[in-house]
This record gives sequence, C-alpha cells and structure tokens, in this order.
Amino acid sequence: MKRQSCGICGSAVYFENSECLQCGTDLAYLRDTRAVVPVDARGRYTDAAGDLWHRCANLLLSGCTWLTRESGGQCFSCGLTRTRPNDADAKGLSQFIAAERAKRHLLAELDELGMPIVTRDEDPDGGLAFDLLSSSHENVVIGHADGVITIDLAETDDAYRERMRTQLDEPYRTMLGHFRHEVGHYFETVLVFSDEGRTRKARELFGDDTKDYQAEIDRHYSEGAPADWNERFISKYATMHPYEDFAESFAHYLHIWDTLDTAREYGLIPQAPARDSFRNVVEADWLPLSAALNQVNRSMGKDDLYPFVLSAAVIDKLEFVHGLRTSAPAAS
Ligand SMILES: [Zn+2]
Ligand SMILES: [Zn+2]
Ligand SMILES: [Zn+2]
Repeated sequence: MKRQSCGICGSAVYFENSECLQCGTDLAYLRDTRAVVPVDARGRYTDAAGDLWHRCANLLLSGCTWLTRESGGQCFSCGLTRTRPNDADAKGLSQFIAAERAKRHLLAELDELGMPIVTRDEDPDGGLAFDLLSSSHENVVIGHADGVITIDLAETDDAYRERMRTQLDEPYRTMLGHFRHEVGHYFETVLVFSDEGRTRKARELFGDDTKDYQAEIDRHYSEGAPADWNERFISKYATMHPYEDFAESFAHYLHIWDTLDTAREYGLIPQAPARDSFRNVVEADWLPLSAALNQVNRSMGKDDLYPFVLSAAVIDKLEFVHGLRTSAPAAS
C-alpha cells in the first residue's frame, strides 16, 4: 500500500484516513492518482486538470473516504456494491463498514497492479459487483457467479471468523483475504478463460476445470485434502477444484505483492530491483522479508504473519498469475 502524506502539513497519513490527525485537515482518496488529498470545508477537491471532486455520499454510512465527480453521488468503489444491509439493520451496517474498508483496499491494489475492472453498467452480464449480505439473517454462501461476488458480513466479526478458521483448519482467514479470493474467480473468467492459450496453460497448472464442481466439493468435505497437499497447493481449500486452486493462488499473489509494496514504501526493503520472474521476486525479496516479519510477530507474542510454505509447484502457479498482468495473452 502506497505511503501517503497530508497535503497541508506533510504528516504521515493512511489510505483509510478521512482526516489528518496532526493538522485536522479533511482528507479523501482520489482514485485517478491513487493519492490521499486534502478537501475543503464542503468536502471538495480540485485536481491538477481543474476538475472538481466531491466526497462520496457514503462517508458517514460506510466510512468511505473516496472522491466522486458527482456532487452527492457515490464513488467508484461504493458503486460496485449492488446489495447492502438496509438502513434499519444497525448490526449489518456496522459489519458493512468493515467489509467496505477491505473492499476499498482490494480495489486500490488492483488499480496499482493495473488489473482491469469492468462495472455492471459497462457489462450487465459479467461486470464486477458485490452483494454484501449477512448470514445472521439468511443463508449466505461466500462466492462468485458471473461477476457478482457475495460476501458474508458475519465474517467481519472477529470471534465468528476465528471460529470458522479453527473449524476449517485454516492458518489464515481475513476479510481482505475473502475479497482477494473471490475476485480471483472473476479474473480467471475475464483474463484466463477469454483466451485459449491461457486456458490451456491454466489447465496444465491447476487441472481440468471442467470437472463437476459439486462432486468435487462433496469429495473434499468427505475425504479432506490429500496427505501431500502442501507439495502442490497453497492451501487445503485449493485442492477442492481447479477453480479454487486458481482463486487461492490469485489471492496469494495479491498478499505477497501488496506486502512487498508496503514494505518498500515504508523503507523496510530496498526499492524494487528488476527481477525477470516472480520466482526471483519470491526467492530474493519475499522469503527473507516474510521470515523477518514472522520473527517480528513472534517478538510481539503473536502468531506468524505469514503461515505458509511455498512449494515449487505453487510458485509456478503464482508465476502464471503474475503473467496475467505483465504479458499479453499467449497466442491461441
Ligand atoms: Zn495535516
Ligand atoms: Zn464511496
Ligand atoms: Zn472460491
């Protein structure tokens, strides 16, 4: 995540800040330049081209800090949310705040990576949208279908999420992780299955995605992951079906990329040297940093920040995800 500073007093501020804690200036996020900028008393900002921006209408509802061109309108991030808790649902709305925060983080990172986001307005059948629902009220299955990502707001509750994590024997479970995984399904449709060469390569790496999805889920929940899963997969969940393997790998790529980016921005590691493959990034940058961060966490009596082991087969999968943004589609 990019390092930000207050445009008025120069103090360090964060992506999530709606105000500078040093000088009290109101702040907002301008997606076009990926910068936190000062806004005037009416919540307005004029960019370098002279265009006027306004704070998103959801500032009080969801804590959204983004700017929008339309006075009284919603920003790009809020516009992607198709369903949210109703105004009478106080608990749902408080969970909605946490979910929207994770979603804005995801979107800022996708922008930073240059991953294309097509809205539902642009593509009503396959554009990206979010249904943020709570399993406190109805049965909610976290998932992705034709561009629509469903998120269970109950997962914003730390106790609930931790219970699920233990029950499913997962080393890592966060809201940001859910968003990264689900958007991985979206990008597999958009960037992989749209191209024959990439689809072929994906099948070599992740397996045959035409396998019956429900049958594979049933198998996973009755038999569990194969004993040697960690030689080929990043998580037990990834063993379920090639779709899930891709989504887990995509999410994992975002975990590593964002953490490296943040570490560079805050001077923990040198600025990005040219690496000719993601394998080199992992070996030269990521493994030393993640080992150090694990020790830092242990020094604070916390669990490891990075509770994963990367096998050669998993690094090949991350290399494929890396290639989706750095190379043109393979010839089909
Ligand atoms: Zn300031
Ligand atoms: Zn907004
Ligand atoms: Zn999934």
